[in-house]
Amino acid sequence: MSDATAARLDHDDPLAKHRDLFVGAESSLVYFDGNSLGRPLRVTGERLARFVDGEWGGRLIRGWDERWFDLPLAVGDELARIVLGAGPGQTTVGDSTTVLLYKAMRAALAARPDRSEIVLDRDNFPTDRYLAQGVAEECGVRLRWIEVDTAGGVTAEQLAEAVGPDTALVLLSHVAYRSAWLADMGELTRIAHDAGALVLWDLSHSVGSVPIQLDACEVDLAVGCSYKYLNGGPGSPAFVYVAARHLERFTQPVQGWMGAADPFLMGPDYAPAEGIRRFLSGTPPIVGMLAMQDMLALLDEVGMAAVREKSVALTEYAVQVAGEVLAPAGVGLASPRDPDLRGGHVTLNHPLMREATAALWQRDVIPDYRDPHGLRLGLSPLSTSYDEVRRGVEAVREVLDGLPG
Ligand SMILES: *Cc1c(COP(=O)(O)O)cnc(C)c1O
Repeated sequence: MSDATAARLDHDDPLAKHRDLFVGAESSLVYFDGNSLGRPLRVTGERLARFVDGEWGGRLIRGWDERWFDLPLAVGDELARIVLGAGPGQTTVGDSTTVLLYKAMRAALAARPDRSEIVLDRDNFPTDRYLAQGVAEECGVRLRWIEVDTAGGVTAEQLAEAVGPDTALVLLSHVAYRSAWLADMGELTRIAHDAGALVLWDLSHSVGSVPIQLDACEVDLAVGCSYKYLNGGPGSPAFVYVAARHLERFTQPVQGWMGAADPFLMGPDYAPAEGIRRFLSGTPPIVGMLAMQDMLALLDEVGMAAVREKSVALTEYAVQVAGEVLAPAGVGLASPRDPDLRGGHVTLNHPLMREATAALWQRDVIPDYRDPHGLRLGLSPLSTSYDEVRRGVEAVREVLDGLPG
């Protein structure tokens, strides 16, 4: 694979112009970790400065009445429209993914009191598994584990075998953090529903890179993070979606004043607010919601179909270059080869990938490492170039060739 191919792909890429909108685009650093922390958009600096001087510094406490009180729901509706395939009034922003997963799991179990199992897979993201273990203990339910291929993910057959009359909740990741396996959301949701169970989807590794249709798939609950492909910045708040048909009945256990029916009544007892606001707990992190609004505006302009097209082209190119440059050095693909089954990153296995990752960081090539032996190349559709992919994969080969072993 020559430089010329990457240059031609970048030249012909209708989305290439957007790359310059991101901080650091001009540097030669190769960034393969947009699936862990997306690059900031240049306009975000201005938005943050404007907020400090104007809204925060100028409006002070009046900001809550004027805009901030409803901002979690307003940004939630934007997320719903632009990246979640969901109608308004079902999504809110706040807390971390971990905390929202907890609230959503508890909400689901409370809605299925006569059932005793949570179904999940062994290779789900650690926080999902750890939370399920805690919730199971807390609520006296069992966990039913699906064993999965670490280079793949949960299939329809596996889920159909795991669910039954005891299943209260199925907890799944839309894109597997390790392999990039893209689950069939519609099919798996239908299988869970046929068994009478509810489904909670973790969208952290898909939102902003893979089109999502929560309403059309009849998803019950979903949670996702905003600092990966939504470029919200380190620790930016997560979002939770609860289907409108459930909102009247579902409740969550962190009964704070900001999710109460009338926060400023400050009454003696908790009563949940109407609608999705009841999934809030304490004062929402307003500053943390600013940066993701810039990325949402860009995704709205470009459209998720075009974003996915670029994402597939980038991962296809990475798989192809890795096949040519790295396969002869003993590197294997640990992601699905079929792009229809793959999200926005590519994982490559080699026994020395841990050492290789450390050496790559020294050279300003920034992928990350995941056991067992996996190098993850996270390719952010709007901020990664084909040239970056080629230079990064070639650097992996040079580093592997230089390692003793
Ligand atoms: C990144 C990620 C999380 C992160 O959870 P935090 O609470 O933000 O630390 C959770 N689940 C999945 C699948 C992820 O990829």
